[in-house]
Amino acid sequence: MKKIISLIVSALMLMVFVLSHKGAYADTDYDNFIKIRLTYPLRSERKVNLYSNSGFSLFDIRDLEEELEFFDQNEIQVTVEKGEICILDSKGKLLSSLDNGDNFLIVSKYDTTIKVEEMYYRGYIMFKTVGDKLYVINYLDLEEYLYGVVPREMGSSFHIEALKAQAIAARTYAIRNFNKHIRDGYNLCDAEHCQVYGGHNVESIKINEAVDETKGLIITYDGYPIEAVYHSNSGGYTDDAEVIWGGYAPYLASRVDEFSKSFPNSSWKLNLTSEEISYKLKNNGIDVGKVLDLIILDTTTAGRVLDLLIVGTNGEEVISGNEFRTIIGSNILKSTLFTIEKENKYDYEVKIYSIDEKGNKKAMALDNINIIDKDGNILKVDEINYIITDGGIKSVNIETIPSAVNFTIYGNGYGHGVGMSQWGAEGMALNGYNYEEILKYYYKGVDIEYKK
Ligand SMILES: [Zn+2]
Repeated sequence: MKKIISLIVSALMLMVFVLSHKGAYADTDYDNFIKIRLTYPLRSERKVNLYSNSGFSLFDIRDLEEELEFFDQNEIQVTVEKGEICILDSKGKLLSSLDNGDNFLIVSKYDTTIKVEEMYYRGYIMFKTVGDKLYVINYLDLEEYLYGVVPREMGSSFHIEALKAQAIAARTYAIRNFNKHIRDGYNLCDAEHCQVYGGHNVESIKINEAVDETKGLIITYDGYPIEAVYHSNSGGYTDDAEVIWGGYAPYLASRVDEFSKSFPNSSWKLNLTSEEISYKLKNNGIDVGKVLDLIILDTTTAGRVLDLLIVGTNGEEVISGNEFRTIIGSNILKSTLFTIEKENKYDYEVKIYSIDEKGNKKAMALDNINIIDKDGNILKVDEINYIITDGGIKSVNIETIPSAVNFTIYGNGYGHGVGMSQWGAEGMALNGYNYEEILKYYYKGVDIEYKK
């Protein structure tokens, strides 16, 4: 009797599993699927380990209704051998080999995710051979892909309306760049080159909600998906894409952004020594010797540095604000919206006194002093060879190069400053604005509409 009950129970459980699997994929609109090449979880260029608690089903991408094979394993290994994709069990025994492997998909039989090395992914895993290398591609619903993208850009502690704005920006990116890697057999990669995608591991209920509640919505200008660029904090002003990058986009226009103020990095201070700057410049092929001065030559109307003159002991060089930020480190010099203060340090001390008729001594600053020598010649202070001091006539060697130069950089914002400010979006959301108002504030003249 016990046995029969347990059989019935397992039969019921199996039905539930079958139903849930069917439920997940039966009405799926595969036109809305996207192929993402995975790089983060992989440990080898030639093989990958996959895990599932319910075994693996093999499908052909051209017919996702008919299971071709079932592998009753919790772990399989996929490798490339002589250009063929081979599926092995955990002991290395060959289970199947697929010529023209590009068309095959592997999915966990009943689980919603499949484990690739140490990370979990929704949808299917497919493969592509490139020489003797194996590309591992996650084939899944675009909306489920966004579950793993948005959390990498904005934390779940943000307001739901800010998260919705971010979800729409990420969806717009995916649609606009859908064919970025199409020649390589997939749509987007999972790295910063495209949009960082962390799979199921990074998902959160709140962010999934933000994706679901904006399902299918993208930002358009003149009917086309926009380049929905964003940054962490504008520091109070966003800038024109054209001025910052040289590419014109009417919707990426500069504006005052009060909403970003009072949030992290809206203002910051950075101390840099001339040694640090000289070292980093030299590592990037710019050798001006010891850096003596940094002079801002040109800024945007918002105040972002466009051109910077670097004065060194061996020469001068003009570089762009963006280049300077990259060289210093974009996480250290958080934006190009900054001003500079300089302090020269001398490790010796020369005092010059003036003596009045009564013999009172008064110390004088060394800068801008000219000296008349015994023959009546007017000399610059650094041309003096001898001076009279408290202790008699002394030979001197006055160097005009300071021993150290310290720079203090006062900055605002974090990131390039073009498009949406994420902290500004948070500020707007906290002030009662919705995602549509947020997006239309940061992207000028756009519409929010369902993708076609
Ligand atoms: Zn990419």
